Amino acid sequence: MTQDLLSGKTALITGCGRGIGKSIALTLARAGADIVVNDIDQDTAENLAGEITDLGRKALVCCGSVGSRTDVDATFAKIKDKFKHLDILVNNAGITRDNMLLKMTDQEWDQVLDVNLKGVFYCIRAAAEMMKEQAYGKIINLTSVTALTGNVGQANYAASKAGVIGMTKTLARELARYQVTVNAVAPGFIDTPMTASIPDEIKQTIVRGIPLGRAGSPQDIANLVKFLSSDESAYITGQVISCNGGIYI
Ligand code: NAP
Repeated sequence: MTQDLLSGKTALITGCGRGIGKSIALTLARAGADIVVNDIDQDTAENLAGEITDLGRKALVCCGSVGSRTDVDATFAKIKDKFKHLDILVNNAGITRDNMLLKMTDQEWDQVLDVNLKGVFYCIRAAAEMMKEQAYGKIINLTSVTALTGNVGQANYAASKAGVIGMTKTLARELARYQVTVNAVAPGFIDTPMTASIPDEIKQTIVRGIPLGRAGSPQDIANLVKFLSSDESAYITGQVISCNGGIYI
């Protein structure tokens, strides 16, 4: 039964108010997990928590930025208080601040690295403390096809997502002794608010380059994350799994 796959588990999904993260949160909840909802925006987080409780699961809202050590500490204090355990961490929160190298500001560089890379470090470090005690944990990091191929105008984003791959492989080795697996998912072009502002003409060109002939959906990514969150993937760690319609094989 799908619902049994994650029953009794608690999952924190960062930046899950919308887009891929929202789909992951609802998919893990449907599979039986209780969900810690993190996002910057309180209203979207509360709305999602309502949808999760409608599914019969528990939801804990912890708003704040993953790039802030104070906010991350507050989130983990609430998790320890309410659930006592954390089985699954999905590092989904991510931002873009695109610009060509010669125009890229220090601020654009720092913002992207702070959220996409330092935020992942803060969350994994805090989660690993709990997972070590439990001798159990599943960590899934959202990287990107851009980390593997590069992309014009995204030096900051590509560097942050390539950093996530290096961290995934290193922490898979460090945390294996505690039965904690660490994997990365590399989406291709996914239809979400993050990609909504790309002009239609450019979107059509991108889609023409995708062998499966369509943009991915958030659910395509959530299905893979569900597998990596479950014991069906027990012997997989340190891997980067692409989900991109065949763009980069
Ligand atoms: P999205 O639609 O922009 O959603 C990102 C979510 O993260 C938003 O709910 C946002 O909250 C939240 N967020 C942003 N900064 C945050 C922070 N500092 N702390 C906590 N939450 C924060 O993005 P998406 O397309 O779903 O992407 C999800 C992940 O997949 C990202 O890591 C992204 O890099 C990766 N990815 C996406 C694609 C794609 O084609 N869409 C491709 C490859 C990889 P607010 O709305 O409140 O700001």
